[in-house]
Amino acid sequence: MNIAEQIKKIPGCLFYQDYDLTKYTTMRLSSRGDLVEVTDIKALQQLLPLLNSHHKKYLVVGWGANQILPSICEELIIHLDFSFDLSYLDVEREEYHLPASLGLNYLTSHAVKFGLKGWEVFTGIPASLGGAIYMNAGTNLGEIGNLIKSVTLVGVDGVLREEKMTADSFTYRHNHFVKPGDVIVGATLIHLGIDPAISQKIKDYLEYRKKTQPLATKNCGCVFKNPHKELQAGRLIDLMGLKGLTVGGLRISPKHANFIENTGNSNWDQFESLVSIIKSNMDCFYGIEFELEVKIPYH
Ligand SMILES: Cc1cc2nc3c(=O)[nH]c(=O)nc-3n(C[C@H](O)[C@H](O)[C@H](O)COP(=O)(O)OP(=O)(O)OC[C@H]3O[C@@H](n4cnc5c(N)ncnc54)[C@H](O)[C@@H]3O)c2cc1C
Repeated sequence: MNIAEQIKKIPGCLFYQDYDLTKYTTMRLSSRGDLVEVTDIKALQQLLPLLNSHHKKYLVVGWGANQILPSICEELIIHLDFSFDLSYLDVEREEYHLPASLGLNYLTSHAVKFGLKGWEVFTGIPASLGGAIYMNAGTNLGEIGNLIKSVTLVGVDGVLREEKMTADSFTYRHNHFVKPGDVIVGATLIHLGIDPAISQKIKDYLEYRKKTQPLATKNCGCVFKNPHKELQAGRLIDLMGLKGLTVGGLRISPKHANFIENTGNSNWDQFESLVSIIKSNMDCFYGIEFELEVKIPYH
C-alpha cells in the first residue's frame, strides 16, 4: 500500500492529492500539492510517525498568513481543523484550554466582551492560535508569548507532550520549544486581569491598523523582520523609495513598505525576484542583511 492509501485509512485524516493550495495562504500565490486535513489529535498521532517512517517531508499551515508556498509544493501540507464548541468563550475564565486551529479573531471578540488585559495583543493579527504561537506573533501592544502558560504538541514519534512556558520560551517572532517536525495542537492561555478600557483600546487599534496596513489586499503580512527594535524594516524600504515597485502582479504596498501585495496572476518566481531586489538594495544602502519573517519552504 502506498503512503497516500495509508493516510486515507487513518480516521480523522482527509487526504487530497495534487490539490489547489492557493487558498491556503493569504498571499494567494498559485500553488498545487498534496494536502491532509486533520480533524483530531489521535489522527495526527498516527499520521506523523507514518510520514516519518516514509521520510516524507511535511509542513503545517495554519491560516497561511505568514507563509508562501511554491507553484509545486513537494512537502505534504498538513492543515488542522479541530472541532471546538465556541460556547466555551461565552464566559470569562482564569485559564483557557484552546485548540491550535482556533482563529485569533475569536479571542479578540472575547477580549472585547470581557475586557481581558493582555489580550489586546491579538488585535487584527490574522492567524490560527498554533501559527501565532509558532511565530510569537505580536504588535506594538505586545507579543502572544506573554499569555501562554503551556503548549501541547505532537512529536514526529506521535507522542503527545506538554511544554510549560518559561521566560526563555519566546523571543521576537520566534519560539524556542517547537522541535523540527513537531505540531502544536493546543495551548493554555492566561490573561492579566480585567480592565473595561481594553475593549476601546482594541477598537482604536483596529482602526489604526486599517489606516496603516493594506489589510484588504492579498499579502503575507510583514515580509522582513525588523533588523532592530528601533529600526522598522518598512520604514527602511520606504526611505529607499521602493514603495509601489512591481514585479509582475506583485507590488510593494504603497501603504506599508514591508508588505508585498498580490494584485493578481503572481507566482513564486516573481515573489523571489522582488524579495531579492529589496534585499540587495538594503545591503547596498544600509549594509544590513534583511532576514525574512515570512516562512518559505526550504529556507
Ligand atoms: C494583513 C496581515 C497582517 C499581519 N499582521 C501581523 C502583525 O501585526 N503581527 C504579527 O506578528 N504577524 C502579523 N501577520 C503575520 C501572521 O498573521 C502571523 O505570523 C501569524 O502568526 C501567522 O499565523 P498562521 O496561523 O497564519 O500561521 P502560518 O502562516 O500558516 O504559519 C506560520 C509558521 O507557523 C508554522 N505553524 C503554523 N501552525 C502550526 C502548528 N499548529 N504547529 C507547528 N507549526 C505551525 C508554519 O509551519 C509556519 O512555519 C500579518 C499577516 C497579514 C496577512
